[in-house]
Amino acid sequence: MVRDFVTHCSIWNSGGTLEPHLSALLWAAMLVSLAIVIVLPQPHGIRALIASTILRLIFSVGLEPTLFLLGAFNVCNKVIFLMSFVGNRGTFTRGYKAMIMDVEFLYHLLYLIICILGVFVHVFFYSLLLFDLIYREETLLNVIKSVTRNGRSIVLTAVLALILVYLFSIVGYIIFKDDFILAVDRIPNKTLEQTATMMSEFLSGGVCQKEGGGENCSAEATVESVAAVVVEDKERTCDSLLMCIVTVLSHGLRSGGGVGDVLRKPSKEEPLFAARVIYDLLFFFMVIIIVLNLIFGVIIDTFADLRSEKQKKEEVLKTTCFICGLERDKFDNKTVTFEEHIKVEHNMWHYLFFIVLIKVKDSTEYTGPESYVAEMIREHNLDWFPRMRAMSLVSSDAEGEQNEIRNLQEKLESTMKLVSNLSSQLTELKEQMTEQRKQKQRIGLLGHPQHMNVNPQQPA
Ligand SMILES: [Zn+2]
Repeated sequence: MVRDFVTHCSIWNSGGTLEPHLSALLWAAMLVSLAIVIVLPQPHGIRALIASTILRLIFSVGLEPTLFLLGAFNVCNKVIFLMSFVGNRGTFTRGYKAMIMDVEFLYHLLYLIICILGVFVHVFFYSLLLFDLIYREETLLNVIKSVTRNGRSIVLTAVLALILVYLFSIVGYIIFKDDFILAVDRIPNKTLEQTATMMSEFLSGGVCQKEGGGENCSAEATVESVAAVVVEDKERTCDSLLMCIVTVLSHGLRSGGGVGDVLRKPSKEEPLFAARVIYDLLFFFMVIIIVLNLIFGVIIDTFADLRSEKQKKEEVLKTTCFICGLERDKFDNKTVTFEEHIKVEHNMWHYLFFIVLIKVKDSTEYTGPESYVAEMIREHNLDWFPRMRAMSLVSSDAEGEQNEIRNLQEKLESTMKLVSNLSSQLTELKEQMTEQRKQKQRIGLLGHPQHMNVNPQQPA
């Protein structure tokens, strides 16, 4: 980014000299930031040092050498990055086809090519690197995706628009051939030649080197000289069907009111006046209002979808634990908060460190849990992750269970007591009854022997 900025600034500034006190200030800034970096190696300090060094270089050795130096450094950096990228991914070992299919690898390769072109061909190639912002920022990536994701429906709608344009140009060619008269601004031949030489000079990279020699290279001046000699004229643009299609496509789609905006304005006495009104209106409604807005609608809808998807993704990341998948509300009224849980109990980086430890450690030195996890990792089995559970929640759950068990036990004990009481009372009662029965039998044996066999168990 800094390099791009410097590149763009450099084209329009002819600088290179500084007032003495500013120069001293720059030296001071550079030395101070260097001292800061040596004492306290912080990212901000390093950035300040880089910025002041670049500025110092620009004013000390000049713009071009600084740019070349930065460009060369950038190429080296990218080459190293690409090599480590390929090494980490194993892109080359996976074969030729995988290399072509790996979009990220191709992206970084393109980046490197642009850097090399920027150093050796022309500095303007660096401006392409600004597209790197899209790659880094998800919102911008969504802007691109909003067109590409529903690309099929957009392309099909565009095909429908093309068919309509084709039909309208056929009608125009047959009926309204004389209405296709467009105003054109002609450029005299001399100016054309001038523009051509300017373009070739630009392509050969000599545009701004000539600044010192007094030659004019700023864009505005050239435009002015072209505008001064333009001659206004009119041209028939529907003498062949191809020209008709081109006119309707280019002018019809680009004008807010359709092709009627650019055609000749007919008088109401003409016999084809009504037909022209219908033609213009139909084009306006069918192509401009319906088809074009369909395309816009698809793009905007896709963008809204992508945005809500992104929000949902962020929400999930914010409210669920990465390791166990438990949501934030599971930790309400518990001894640990969700924040503590994801920072201390289920810190995902700790899990990653553990996996790395297992990969690095000698397998003969594994502890029990380590060898278990190592086995799981070898089998690509994720069962060792605590899915939907956490130790802190389990322990508090267990407490509740214990309370319940204690309650039950108390109840059981009281019931047991009651039962033993009752059973003792029952045995007492039984004894009493047997006693009574014995007495009765004795009485029966003595007095009325026939009663004993009729109902011997009936109590008295
Ligand atoms: Zn968790």
